[in-house]
Amino acid sequence: MSADGNAWGMCAANGCPLFGSLGGAPWYCFCHHGRPNSANDAITQCLRNAEAVVVDLVKGIRMDSINGERSETTAIALRELRNHPQARELAFNRESDGNARAWLQRLERHLIVATSEFGRQQGLSGIVPTAPVIGPTHALDHYSEVDR
Ligand SMILES: [Zn+2]
Repeated sequence: MSADGNAWGMCAANGCPLFGSLGGAPWYCFCHHGRPNSANDAITQCLRNAEAVVVDLVKGIRMDSINGERSETTAIALRELRNHPQARELAFNRESDGNARAWLQRLERHLIVATSEFGRQQGLSGIVPTAPVIGPTHALDHYSEVDR
């Protein structure tokens, strides 16, 4: 997981489609920042597949805010957002969002929530029971042969 494989300005996690905006040398996106390395690939997979349209939309809105006009990227993402399972909740809501900036924050928060389960340690919540631990007696016999 180095910055070598990714284009300049992109998140340092291998293959991540988002911009690197947090941390600094290496820069990570808001989904990968502060997460264990072991979760990087699962987060990237989620961003590239299930949440690909939201990623495109987030990037489109950010680019449009710089360029001052609605881009083709944003137009396509908006059309494809209709196929997202949470299309209704994710669509721009003039009443609650008010402006593109608030909508962008809401979309980015959606991505953070969508990727937040990856790499989380199991057992801490008490909801996911872990398998019983097999005692070290198995290994002890084996290692005792090495000592001879
Ligand atoms: Zn990332």
